[in-house]
Amino acid sequence: MPHSTLTVGNVEITVLHDSEVALPFNRTFPDVPLESWTPYLERYPDAYSGADSLRVHFECYLLRSQGRTLLVDTGLGNASSNPAVVANIGGGIDGVLLTELQAAGFQASDIDTVFLSHLHPDHVGWNVTRNGVNESPTFPNARYVAHEADWAAFDTPLDSQIFGYDWWAETVAPLRRLGVLDLITGETELTGELTVTPTPGHTPGSMSMIVNSGGEKAYMMGDVFHGPAQVTETDWVFHYDMDPDQAGQTRRNMLDRAESESAAIAICHHSGFGRVIRESGKRYWQAL
Ligand SMILES: [Zn+2]
Ligand SMILES: [Zn+2]
Repeated sequence: MPHSTLTVGNVEITVLHDSEVALPFNRTFPDVPLESWTPYLERYPDAYSGADSLRVHFECYLLRSQGRTLLVDTGLGNASSNPAVVANIGGGIDGVLLTELQAAGFQASDIDTVFLSHLHPDHVGWNVTRNGVNESPTFPNARYVAHEADWAAFDTPLDSQIFGYDWWAETVAPLRRLGVLDLITGETELTGELTVTPTPGHTPGSMSMIVNSGGEKAYMMGDVFHGPAQVTETDWVFHYDMDPDQAGQTRRNMLDRAESESAAIAICHHSGFGRVIRESGKRYWQAL
């Protein structure tokens, strides 16, 4: 798949596609009546698979800033790096992040920072490469950055019960053993142009990246939104939002910021970049 690039001031952001699946509305937004989707099916046909399912992308982002090379999220992974998740969510199909990275002109060893927007199983898939019993960081020169609250939420013997399969032991727990994980607790500057900030609700440690360069801004918002419809319908509850009220408040806060600053926005599970527009008093996603 051709990768798309957005330039924000002096920062270059390249979308690296890892995988894509169809997930039915009754599994992702069980409280939303089917007919409520109609206007969004018409407005954003690329965001849906048929009339009853989200077309869920698993996107990662490569950022070049001030001589640094950063990766946002590591996708679903493959049958070796994240076996239960590739089988249960990914339809048994390996993700292609590493191929996409090479096609963009980079090697895994070029990445100096992996920022994990949150520690859900579909955002950490390529963290670790396994060769028999030996495991190593897939990005050997990177520090992996995540919020401490997500570590606390999922690093328990019960983690496998959250989704019905084990994933933590394969993808996130090894980062600490390997000594490459930096857990942070609040807003943190990664470069002079890139800051990560807490945007909790979907998970307690969810964070977004703010790109601020040359008078331009972009927000990379992970799973704050699950598709463009939620830009308008901020109260629609995604099934896996751990604190639905806080998730809705975070959506509205981030839309207020992005709209007032005319910022570009990106959300992990929808392709490409957008901005917030207003029609008849309502906010909508508009693709860039
Ligand atoms: Zn998530
Ligand atoms: Zn996700």
